[in-house]
Amino acid sequence: MSLKRREFFKLAALSSAALATNSAFATDDGEVLDCRATYGVLVDTVVCIGCRKCEWACNNQHSLSTEPITAFEDKSVFETHRRPHSKAYTVVNQYSDPATSKAYTMKVQCMHCNEPACVSACIVGALNKANNGPVVYEAWKCIGCRYCMVACPFQIPAYEYDNALNPQVRKCTFCIERHLDEGNRPACVSICPNEALTFGTRQELIDLGHTRIRMQPDRYEDHVYGETEIGGTSWMYLAAADFKNTELPTLPDDAIPQHTETIQHGIFKSFVPPLALYGFLGLVMHSLRKTDNGQEDQ
Ligand code: SF4
Ligand code: SF4
Ligand code: SF4
Repeated sequence: MSLKRREFFKLAALSSAALATNSAFATDDGEVLDCRATYGVLVDTVVCIGCRKCEWACNNQHSLSTEPITAFEDKSVFETHRRPHSKAYTVVNQYSDPATSKAYTMKVQCMHCNEPACVSACIVGALNKANNGPVVYEAWKCIGCRYCMVACPFQIPAYEYDNALNPQVRKCTFCIERHLDEGNRPACVSICPNEALTFGTRQELIDLGHTRIRMQPDRYEDHVYGETEIGGTSWMYLAAADFKNTELPTLPDDAIPQHTETIQHGIFKSFVPPLALYGFLGLVMHSLRKTDNGQEDQ
């Protein structure tokens, strides 16, 4: 893609302004996203009642299980901390606030990072940040290398190890298939009975998070998790206690491209001379994109 001079300067100006505020990401086709305007979800663990309806709605939306909604009333699952997997893109876990011993629950799924490490790690472009926020996976491009699984700081991408014929990487899709731009909300957000999940633009959600903290400082920890961590995430969290008590890791504010570069360098060092491999991968990418564009054009 070639840029005209004026477009280049516009892009450069937007990039530096937005990157300075952890709010921009250059997509696969060179477009710079202003992540303040992309979609996100604010997960308010202070009002989450641990009903697990979001788990059922997600499974139902993606045909992951046929269990009835009543099966999700089982709270014995809170005895262990579960991780999302290929048959459950989201799970609710229970934690205890060490200061008060009060239990609280938290939904876990892909964070749809502003600058996703999984996207940087994927050498064939099977993962991409969509213009409106979701980090999406295109199975037909995936070569099953699973670098995305190593790169993700939240340990989210899951592999279908039990699928011998056509295993794929699975994770929360942000319900992009429900057409968010047409005013539809993700299935988990729609079903949440206590408005613990709020869908909106990232900037609206950051403002909402800080408003709740300001209005009720006794109920909330003064931290919107995901506002700045690793360059910001589309899904963000509020809690009554320090996030270090949960499985959300303590992360720096900078995006972590070095994480993915380390993975790629380690891999490439062991096999083919990097230039030859990059050349080959470039051809693969070029051919995949050509096919992709051809399909979109039709
Ligand atoms: S549906 Fe809402 S209240 Fe229920 S567990 Fe999920 S996030 Fe919490
Ligand atoms: S949470 Fe992991 S899988 Fe999801 S966008 Fe971020 S790096 Fe990718
Ligand atoms: S956004 Fe969609 S895919 Fe992601 S956890 Fe919610 S229901 Fe599941």
